[in-house]
Amino acid sequence: MAEATDAARTVLLTVDDDPAVSRAVARDLRRRYGDRYRVVRAESGASALEALRELKLRGAPVAVILADYRMPQMNGIEFLEEALDLYPGARRVLLTAYADTNAAIDAINVVDLDHYLLKPWEPPEEKLYPVVDDLLESWRAGDGRTVDTTKVVGHRWSARSSQIREFLARNQVPYRWYSSEEPEGRRLLAAAGQTGLRLPLVVTPGGTALVEPTERDLAAHVGLSTTPAADFYDLVIVGGGPAGLGAAVYGASEGLRTVLVEREATGGQAGQSSRIENYLGFPDGVSGAQLTERARRQATRFGAELLTACKVTGLEVNGAARTLRFADGSAVSAQAVILATGVSYRQLDVPGTAELTGRGVYYGSALTEVAACQGQDVYIVGGANSAGQAAMFLARTARRVTLLVRAPQLAASMSYYLLQRVQESPAITVRTDTVVEAAHGKDHLEGLTLRNRATGRTETVDAQWMYVFIGAAPLTDWLEGTVLRDSHGFVLTGPDLSADGGPPAGWVLDRPPYHLETSVPGVFAAGDVRAESAKRVASAVGEGAMAVMLAHRYLEQS
Ligand SMILES: Cc1cc2nc3c(=O)[nH]c(=O)nc-3n(C[C@H](O)[C@H](O)[C@H](O)COP(=O)(O)OP(=O)(O)OC[C@H]3O[C@@H](n4cnc5c(N)ncnc54)[C@H](O)[C@@H]3O)c2cc1C
Repeated sequence: MAEATDAARTVLLTVDDDPAVSRAVARDLRRRYGDRYRVVRAESGASALEALRELKLRGAPVAVILADYRMPQMNGIEFLEEALDLYPGARRVLLTAYADTNAAIDAINVVDLDHYLLKPWEPPEEKLYPVVDDLLESWRAGDGRTVDTTKVVGHRWSARSSQIREFLARNQVPYRWYSSEEPEGRRLLAAAGQTGLRLPLVVTPGGTALVEPTERDLAAHVGLSTTPAADFYDLVIVGGGPAGLGAAVYGASEGLRTVLVEREATGGQAGQSSRIENYLGFPDGVSGAQLTERARRQATRFGAELLTACKVTGLEVNGAARTLRFADGSAVSAQAVILATGVSYRQLDVPGTAELTGRGVYYGSALTEVAACQGQDVYIVGGANSAGQAAMFLARTARRVTLLVRAPQLAASMSYYLLQRVQESPAITVRTDTVVEAAHGKDHLEGLTLRNRATGRTETVDAQWMYVFIGAAPLTDWLEGTVLRDSHGFVLTGPDLSADGGPPAGWVLDRPPYHLETSVPGVFAAGDVRAESAKRVASAVGEGAMAVMLAHRYLEQS
């Protein structure tokens, strides 16, 4: 039976069916290498393979494998051949009790043997250690190490693989990506007992293999909270964009028991921006990921609880309590609520795009797939700042970026500073008056039909990558019947709640609604989800802070 292993240290593995010999080999190895290496011992090929699979999933490096030749069921060469599939970089040593030239020749041919050792090897200082020292040195030089991080094995054109990568990246969980077709990807699949039909496979640093995980499952395994620690809070914030994070920092720092609930990943739209240049205090710009990471740290430092992969689907008023229902049926209540759900990307509604989303057609974030776009032609649909920023970002690595703009010119929709950069970039071509009529492709995007709105001419172009930035809409249907919204679904607050600026019909309190208060007392809205909001990072953060101040005022009076 293989001994328990610890992923932290590089492993030397030895397998021999004779328990006394197996123990003696392990003892000799430990005496010399035990302070720096973990020596794992097994007494059959099968249990050694089991140990190797577990080590593989845990990301533990294996430097040297010493296998006895004459073992029943599976001999040393057969074992080393299978071990090679899991750890091709490990150095391989065959042990025999007497000179067995045929075995040595076989082993050299079949498993590319590094060394052949005769037992017993007294004294080990002369016969064993010099060999293992050399093998360790060559293993280190060959960098046989694997990285102790989350690993994702998927298919380049699988929409689900793409969503999982996006989820990890936006939650700032470091991961390594392996195609299911590359050797290391195949090795990880084999270690998890998978054929590759069900992808992606996610292997956590602790060695747990998750096949086609949900975001919630994954979140829980990579250390992100998904359920509230308590049933009742002073303040629940829905949405983890700049407005929600701003509210979490101010709420928690001002002593409110605060929980923030985010359906995907904190950062919101801003988290997907490659460079925000107009946020106060960052003269050289700041990436959305950096800003999010700092805001997260700041909010948790003040004691706010942040939940991820937790979608809110309903709001109920139960006397003084405001109860939020989650997609899984569970709920959390609070005295006050801040709605900070922002807006979501509008989908491009033309034939082919729905089927190809995640397989060459992407919305919003250009970050996770950017490496794959290196040296490729990329199309970006949209003419606003988000499209311009993505074009600038992708132009760093793509061969050519074509911006498809519906309007006759860009100036109307893009900030002047960005427009100038786009126009000056040699890698970017702007095609105005142009719309996408259809996307084509079987497993992934292969072409686009474009139409010139001025001339009516259509043409089909080869395309593997298309990023769509055609505006956004608030997803607030779940508030229907509880909170008043405008005709586009934006949440009405304060003076916007009625035509004359007074309280809305059914308002029960003596005072009028506060500036960011909705038609339900104690429920506030901040950021892009609010009707008439400025749609900027700074204003969203500011409204988050202001909503907390108004929530305090509400709590003092209730
Ligand atoms: C690519 C891009 C670049 C931009 N660049 C700039 C810039 O340079 N400068 C600038 O000022 N502005 C910029 N903006 C605009 C800016 O990012 C937004 O105005 C800002 O993010 C709005 O913040 P918010 O918190 O109100 O909403 P959002 O950022 O939209 O965040 C809302 C969050 O709520 C979550 N959510 C939604 N529904 C639910 C639910 N039911 N349950 C739980 N959670 C939910 C979402 O997942 C999301 O994380 C950019 C936007 C984009 C898309």
